[in-house]
Amino acid sequence: MSLATFCTSCAGRLVHGGRHPVCSHCGRTHHRDPKVGVGVVVLDQAGRLLLVRRGVRPGKGLWALPAGFVDAGEDPRAAAARETREETGLLVEVGAVLDVYALPSVRGSHGGASFFLAFEATSVGGTLTAGDDAVEVGFFDVDELPELAFPSTRDAADRMRRRGAETGQ
Ligand SMILES: [Zn+2]
Repeated sequence: MSLATFCTSCAGRLVHGGRHPVCSHCGRTHHRDPKVGVGVVVLDQAGRLLLVRRGVRPGKGLWALPAGFVDAGEDPRAAAARETREETGLLVEVGAVLDVYALPSVRGSHGGASFFLAFEATSVGGTLTAGDDAVEVGFFDVDELPELAFPSTRDAADRMRRRGAETGQ
């Protein structure tokens, strides 16, 4: 998505260059809403991490947590469960927030998330099948992860592992 050119209130021309675009006609400041990404950290019985191979940019061809964008008005946990179902076929119960990651905006676009919530989640059913934006799906040993699309995936995996060590799992 490129920068807007015209004011959505009065169709005046927007002036870019400041923190936010401002309409040259009515003076309205146009705030850009951050996009919110959500994803899940799901471990199988053997402690392996659920990952999907991405079929879309950013990170196309690389592996990441099952994840996607929160729709307007959608509960973030419901969005995380929905994306997981769409990408992996698994039904999950979404638990606590593992962490929140701020993401730099992708140069020249707003195609990526502005921040990303990683949730702990537990698989409660479904059949493992790649779908939607995922071209492949699988569980991986956290010491032998495939090439990852985003640093947050590695960080979330490490957090889960430390948590497992603390609770003796
Ligand atoms: Zn205007």
